[in-house]
Formats: sequence, C-alpha cells, structure tokens
Amino acid sequence: MNMDNLHVDFRTHSRSCRDDRGCYFEETNRALVILPNHECVDDIIATIVHESLHFCMREEENVDEEMEEEIIFRMQWAYLSI
Ligand SMILES: [Zn+2]
Repeated sequence: MNMDNLHVDFRTHSRSCRDDRGCYFEETNRALVILPNHECVDDIIATIVHESLHFCMREEENVDEEMEEEIIFRMQWAYLSI
C-alpha cells in the first residue's frame, strides 16, 4: 500500500466502526466508510471529505484528536459563510 496516498474502503458492516460513519487509520493511511450509517449519497461524500481531511492533517503534531475534529467540522461548514 502506498503510504503517500489515502486509501478509501467502503463497508456494509464493520465490527470496529459499527456506530461511525467513517474511520481513518493513520498507521496505514486508510479510511473506512460504513455505508449503512449514511442517509444519502451527499452524506457519503461528506464522510469521504471528512476522512480525507484527517489524512491531510496527519502530520500536524500540535493538534490533538478533538482539535482536529473541530477544525474539520468548521471546514466542512465553511461554505455556508462564503
Ligand atoms: Zn473525524
């Protein structure tokens, strides 16, 4: 697996991400998108963007997990203020 690229997998179920829409695994640059936890295609796209932003921020050392989630949340809603 190329560690310089994000690899996105889609699942119909997952034991480890059962209640999540998506999970990002920094060790392998892999994201899982759990399809049944979405309402529509737009939600799936939003999850892919969300997990991609985790990938983009993977080398930020001064940002903890909660801060990263807040940054991503704000980025995904930023278009409403443009
Ligand atoms: Zn997240």
